Amino acid sequence: MRASYCEVAIVGAGPVGCAIAVGLHRAGVQVQLLDRRRFTPDDADYDTRVYAVSPASARLLDALGVWPSIVAARASPYTHMQVWEHDPTQALHFDAADVRLPVLGHIVEHRVLQQALLARVPAEVLRVPAAIRACRIDEDAAVLTLDDGSRLQARLVVAADGPQSPLRAMLGVDVVGADYAQTALVCHVRTQQPHRETAYQRFLDTGPLALLPLADGGSSLVWSTTEADALLAMDDRAFCQQLAVATQHALGEVLECTPRRPFALRFQHAERYAGPRFALAGDAAHVVHPLAGQGLNLGFGDAASLIETLSRAHRARRDPGSPRVLGPYRRARAAAAREMLLVTDGLYRAYRFQRPGWRWLRQRGLTLVNELTPLRRALVQRACGLSSSDA
Ligand SMILES: Cc1cc2nc3c(=O)[nH]c(=O)nc-3n(C[C@H](O)[C@H](O)[C@H](O)COP(=O)(O)OP(=O)(O)OC[C@H]3O[C@@H](n4cnc5c(N)ncnc54)[C@H](O)[C@@H]3O)c2cc1C
Repeated sequence: MRASYCEVAIVGAGPVGCAIAVGLHRAGVQVQLLDRRRFTPDDADYDTRVYAVSPASARLLDALGVWPSIVAARASPYTHMQVWEHDPTQALHFDAADVRLPVLGHIVEHRVLQQALLARVPAEVLRVPAAIRACRIDEDAAVLTLDDGSRLQARLVVAADGPQSPLRAMLGVDVVGADYAQTALVCHVRTQQPHRETAYQRFLDTGPLALLPLADGGSSLVWSTTEADALLAMDDRAFCQQLAVATQHALGEVLECTPRRPFALRFQHAERYAGPRFALAGDAAHVVHPLAGQGLNLGFGDAASLIETLSRAHRARRDPGSPRVLGPYRRARAAAAREMLLVTDGLYRAYRFQRPGWRWLRQRGLTLVNELTPLRRALVQRACGLSSSDA
């Protein structure tokens, strides 16, 4: 079979791969986006899966022309965040006004985000279903062999094919990582009291629990816990009661819940983010604990950086797959991911110690952040993906 050709081939049409494809196509780069699954408009698979999209990610989506259709479909802004461990009256409060922003972020369903991005990918760019069987790196091209036996040559191949990333394995890139002793339970709930555009997070002895405000007045639950099996085995009534207790009735009683979906949690970091004729992006490069809701935001940071790097190379007629072009991307994004891994993994570990001395230290830490406005402001800026000059 004859090989087809493109400048950049992106494997994986999840949110990160789609964003890169849209950005590069708009910059005039000849791009192909491949995914092993066929996307259908009523893809309900991820119905309960939502993301806390940071202002920096919203800016990227806006620049790609995607954000208005997300807002028109369904996006729930949140302006406040409350974080506590044992005593809700001592909660740490974050406020969008602290950083002179209208919102701290938006809660967006996976399905809404995915469809808005796919709608911006031109038909001639998207190749689905197309799974990769092999990848060979030659001096002047990466050569992909697809499941149907056809071949695609590209000057650069981008692995955006998720945490298991078959392409990363074909490229011989190792990962460091480990499973967390927690499973995330995800579902939507309806509560007695309104959420007031506030995201709530409580650190329990068994793991962190987050309630994220939804546009329909309900909340999305992400409960990372060592007791997932017991919580999954409960009937809805018992689960709702247990959740109300676990949240210390922050939103009153929990009235209803949708079916709970479990997600195994791990941290993972690729040993290289780019090499000759390849780059890694999104979960193919890094997986972080969802306690800070930053996994996809980190992936969108990769997307923004890669779009800028490759658009500049395209304008200057430079080879997109050369180590010189990819070097700054490799260094900058590996550093950003390491920082996020340190924060999320550090928080995960800090809250696992249950000795009274540690509890006291953590509560002092929260109180201190509450009292020190500049420190609180700096934390909010980082979570929003903004630099200090943005606010
Ligand atoms: C419980 C939970 C809650 C989370 N909450 C948040 C949050 O609030 N905010 C946030 O920012 N992040 C959150 N995350 C993280 C977020 O889900 C991920 O970071 C994000 O989905 C990664 O997107 P991606 O495009 O890199 O990969 P994926 O969404 O995994 O997409 C990968 C794509 O590659 C395709 N693919 C795989 N193999 C092949 C192959 N061989 N050939 C072709 N195609 C292939 C797949 O079909 C898929 O479409 C959460 C994660 C979990 C587990």
